Amino acid sequence: MKPQALFLLCALLPMGACQNTTSGTRQAPVVLAIHGGAGTILRKNMSAEKEAAYRAKLEEALRAGYALLDGGSEALDAVQAAILIMEDSPLFNSGHGAVLTSAGTCEMDASVMRGDTGMAGAVAGVTTTRHPILAARAVMEHSPHVLLSGAGADTFAREQGLEQVPNAFFHTTRRVQQLERWRERQKSTGSLSGAWDAQPDERHGTVGAVALDREGHLAAGTSTGGMVGKLWGRIGDSPIPGAGTWAADHTCAVSGTGWGEFFMRGTIARDVAALMEFGGLDLEQAAQRVVRTQLTERGGTGGVIALDAQGRVSAPFNTAGMYRGWIDREGRVEVHLYSAAAPAPEGP
Ligand code: ASP
Repeated sequence: MKPQALFLLCALLPMGACQNTTSGTRQAPVVLAIHGGAGTILRKNMSAEKEAAYRAKLEEALRAGYALLDGGSEALDAVQAAILIMEDSPLFNSGHGAVLTSAGTCEMDASVMRGDTGMAGAVAGVTTTRHPILAARAVMEHSPHVLLSGAGADTFAREQGLEQVPNAFFHTTRRVQQLERWRERQKSTGSLSGAWDAQPDERHGTVGAVALDREGHLAAGTSTGGMVGKLWGRIGDSPIPGAGTWAADHTCAVSGTGWGEFFMRGTIARDVAALMEFGGLDLEQAAQRVVRTQLTERGGTGGVIALDAQGRVSAPFNTAGMYRGWIDREGRVEVHLYSAAAPAPEGP
């Protein structure tokens, strides 16, 4: 579009539909929202140093994705850029730092979805692909399928030229110790779900992103190691379109985090969009309703980040906290860890 035409378009649009970007050109708003997992994230368990590390990494991911959007890249590129940074950080349960299965291995799930075409791609149970989010995108763009799993997904990723690493690359001391604690609890509760119920704070760390680009298109992505102590071969909601991830330009983009079995049974991500499409709810109402009903009332825990094509963000959760942040339509950066009512942090 010629600069004169763009200026005219912006002059005709309502206030806020165009904004000043860093380049100084008035253009349509772009928005990026991310999460780094929901769970028992409490100020009293968090040192100032640890909190600062989470905030810094979330902000780094946000700024990396937003810079692409601001430069005119498509929504999926921003989603991917933000998730790549979190996959590489041991702070989160995805890529390096993913939780361990009951067998002591990392099996990771990821998915992406485009709001413009409705295309989706996903991998489940990958064990050697360094960046599961790239493999998910490759499945969407370079295969006729939506979801590849296990060894086949890793083989496909390798054939696509994606970096392969030994499974030990993903392991961290923190996750090894977490698995040991989880095994102790499982012995005392006698069941998988009992052990998860006993320690909900160890169920967070999945990462996700939703973005709105300058063309008005939405995209979503989610990447996770799943749940600590999961049975080998278990697949959660994160790679399932409609459960952990959803994007459709006419409604919203959603990425979820929480107890995956509940997200799958409740089709959480898709239901946020469906309540907008068929129920006439706005984004905030739809996201809140889904978390309250399909998730909370059925006994599940977690939350979602959701973004509509007007750039509105909603991030409801029913846990003590959710690592989350966004850069909004005005370019304001926000990062939050706890629910609003939590008291101030203590020193390290
Ligand atoms: N939803 C993920 C799963 O169940 C875990 C999480 O988000 O914490 O695999």
